[in-house]
Amino acid sequence: MLIILVGPPAAGKGTQAGKLVEYLNIPHISTGDILRQSIKDKTSLGEAALLYINKGELVPDEVITAAVKERLSQRDCKNGALLDGYPRTIRQAEALEEFAPPDVVLDIDADRENLLKRVTGRRVCDKCGLSFHIDNLKGQNCRCGGNLYIRDDDTAEVFETRLDNYQRLTLPLKQYYLKRGKLRTVSGEGTRDEVFERIIKALKD
Ligand code: AMP
Repeated sequence: MLIILVGPPAAGKGTQAGKLVEYLNIPHISTGDILRQSIKDKTSLGEAALLYINKGELVPDEVITAAVKERLSQRDCKNGALLDGYPRTIRQAEALEEFAPPDVVLDIDADRENLLKRVTGRRVCDKCGLSFHIDNLKGQNCRCGGNLYIRDDDTAEVFETRLDNYQRLTLPLKQYYLKRGKLRTVSGEGTRDEVFERIIKALKD
């Protein structure tokens, strides 16, 4: 089963994706994580992404589509995968239809004020990739022992660009998938367990 997660920046996609892949036993493919890792590893993909990512702009469609196509062709994806952060434009969605049409598109929704609060308080583990909000942190480190850091694009200023891009380029995807009968929208408000319950229910509906 190929599931897609869409939603505005900091709606909780990464957190819910982590729980969902454990529940469904499929790989989690986060395009943001792939790009951040490529930047760390200084690959050609990372070099191309760096020009866009810290400004909150989208990486060109063909660059990210090639990376997703390659990742989905790997053996661990033969029974499906959870795509988190791809597609983000209609062109990407059309490209995906050609090589791996999704079964379900989960849309996690949250309002602007909440998103801004989450983005400016977000800390990410450099080892396991889990993210936390500063209000819920118990210590300086992640429970896996990794160090917590602030993403370069998690500033109020870059958030505005990311949200603007989301509204202009990614929101039309909802209509695209609604027409195809694949869209399930759940509210991203509340605790992560509450949101997760809504997701499981939406998947069963
Ligand atoms: P995320 O971790 O999903 O918030 O993604 C972080 C950044 O990576 C985005 O702001 C974009 O610059 C880039 N990115 C991730 N996924 C895509 C995509 N599907 N298309 C274009 N750019 C992407």
